[in-house]
Amino acid sequence: MHPGGNPAAARPRIDPNQIPSPIKMQTDDQVAYAQTPYGTSGRAGNPPLASTDYMAVDEGNSNPKFMRLTVNQIPTTEELANTSHLPLALVVQPLAKLRADEAPIPLVDLGEEGPVRCTRCKGYINPFCTFTDGGRRFICSLCQFASDVPNAYFCNLDMAGRRMDLEMRPELMYGTCEYVPTKEYYNREARPAAFLFAIDVSWNSVQSGMLVQCVQAIKDALYGAQAEQWLRPGVRVGILTFDRSVNFYNLSAELEQAQMLVVSDIDDMFAPIQDGLLVDPVASRTVIESLLDTLPGMFQTNRTADPVLGAALQAAHQAMQANGGRLIVFQTTMPIR
Ligand SMILES: [Zn+2]
Repeated sequence: MHPGGNPAAARPRIDPNQIPSPIKMQTDDQVAYAQTPYGTSGRAGNPPLASTDYMAVDEGNSNPKFMRLTVNQIPTTEELANTSHLPLALVVQPLAKLRADEAPIPLVDLGEEGPVRCTRCKGYINPFCTFTDGGRRFICSLCQFASDVPNAYFCNLDMAGRRMDLEMRPELMYGTCEYVPTKEYYNREARPAAFLFAIDVSWNSVQSGMLVQCVQAIKDALYGAQAEQWLRPGVRVGILTFDRSVNFYNLSAELEQAQMLVVSDIDDMFAPIQDGLLVDPVASRTVIESLLDTLPGMFQTNRTADPVLGAALQAAHQAMQANGGRLIVFQTTMPIR
């Protein structure tokens, strides 16, 4: 009984049996793409679900691993977008890992001229741009503006209006390509990477065994069998440790052993050395290895409970400010300052 009301109104408006099961959808999608590749032209329908392990073939649109809309259909009006309550967004992951059976991303080098772009909106030339005036101009796929084709990029069109060199131009064939950048695209020359290891050496780190594991892992990374894969010439590495204070190490190759510099004023953090902090791991191998071997013993009796992660991050930021680099933190407790 529903006194004073319409019995029908009390019934749920959505029948739970009609709601598709997400688990089943994911399983079905995985089965569908287990053997069949996904062609990005969209002829086969919606892209595979984000949870599916699939092989994509770039047919002019990007592989969904690089770019994926939150919805497969874009609402035609703002009102529809608002009433649907579905977020409309684009997930962009430019360095997403490809599957081994997917084609590698082609590299385009257009020399000094750099990428060809729309004069008006600066959109990059792409498979959806069309060519007119015998190939002398191209229509931007984003804003429909007709830009001149640079002389060096000019090519005659075939009967169908396609460039004769189409298959030599990955940027006109695929949704994703890499460009060799010209000077316009960067502020400074690319420098080899720098890696700074920041290691918690407080009581918890030592007692839990993390410190021992950590120095071993760093040694493996720098000098183990896999090291050559990422230790390119010019790469520099540095080490700092922190407990109540932040400890820097001069790892210069000419030293017999690493020099430790302690900064205990964590409210006024600064990097006490510039030279010798980030070094060539090959030239300084003896110094680095002996420091790593020494660290567990050096802090064995450390009773400090609150490592100053915040100060260590500040110090690392200062040390790498000029040239940039990657900070790798080994921390065992919740940071409190
Ligand atoms: Zn444009």
